[in-house]
Amino acid sequence: MKNIKQKRICRVCGCSDESACFNEDMGFCWWVEDDLCSHCDPETIQLQKSLDKGESEEEFLRSLKKVS
Ligand SMILES: [Zn+2]
Ligand SMILES: [Zn+2]
Repeated sequence: MKNIKQKRICRVCGCSDESACFNEDMGFCWWVEDDLCSHCDPETIQLQKSLDKGESEEEFLRSLKKVS
């Protein structure tokens, strides 16, 4: 039995560990799911934007709950 090391590839943009995608606002991406990078996850992008505006993560999560 062989243990094949699976490469992570983003299911949206196709980036991988060796070629992470770069965004001027967020820098290099990181993994939010096994096959989804931070630059392709709307929630992470929103969170990043609100953090840039000076809102705390806590405030952001609270505002998420308000919106139904
Ligand atoms: Zn991606
Ligand atoms: Zn990426």
